[in-house]
Amino acid sequence: MEDRKTILIVEDDKYIIHFLSISLKEEDYGLWVAKTVKEAVSLFYANRPDLVILDLGLPDGDGMEVIESIREIADTPVIVVSARQNEEEKIRALDAGADDYVTKPFYMGELQARIRAALRKRETYTPDKSSCFEQGDLSVDFEKRQVKVAGEEIHLTPIEYRILILLIANRGKVLTHNYILKEIWGYAEGVEAGTLRVFVATLRRKIEKNPSQPQHIVTEVGVGYRFR
Ligand code: CA
Repeated sequence: MEDRKTILIVEDDKYIIHFLSISLKEEDYGLWVAKTVKEAVSLFYANRPDLVILDLGLPDGDGMEVIESIREIADTPVIVVSARQNEEEKIRALDAGADDYVTKPFYMGELQARIRAALRKRETYTPDKSSCFEQGDLSVDFEKRQVKVAGEEIHLTPIEYRILILLIANRGKVLTHNYILKEIWGYAEGVEAGTLRVFVATLRRKIEKNPSQPQHIVTEVGVGYRFR
């Protein structure tokens, strides 16, 4: 059997559901549709789709609750599609573990590209060769996706984890903001360097002894970041 990707659409607007369903079926994705937070969580847990498209304004709650429930058991890519435009809302969703954020109204072609990018990232980020990395008190087990600091396991959001392994894979080299944005989000438009800064800051708080004097992730002012 071919490897057909499945998507859970969480949306309460019937026109958007219709539009998304038609376009995604054409691309041969298997689909489930949930119209409430409750339905979304139970459909997710029952079917474990490959990707989730998530509206934030749902009749029985906030889509953010869906992200939190998903993240308790899986790192499945979540693309938020929301009419909420402000930067804080975006960062809040990304921080909660969403992989991407698309503002309504959106172009289907753009959403499709982001879906492909999100699915591809999950596949290509399985590291090769050595399955462990250690430096100082930081250790990463790529197979288990487990990060430890001084022997203690710490929890990283999927994006934090991907940024960390991208930097580790290129350690010693300076990675520009644009390069990191493209690698992590699959495109650089719409995600600002400021968003990346937020992620690096939370990542440092988790892995650095003293986040204001980082030992692992060094800032190259005006350029990007380098893993020491
Ligand atoms: Ca809605």
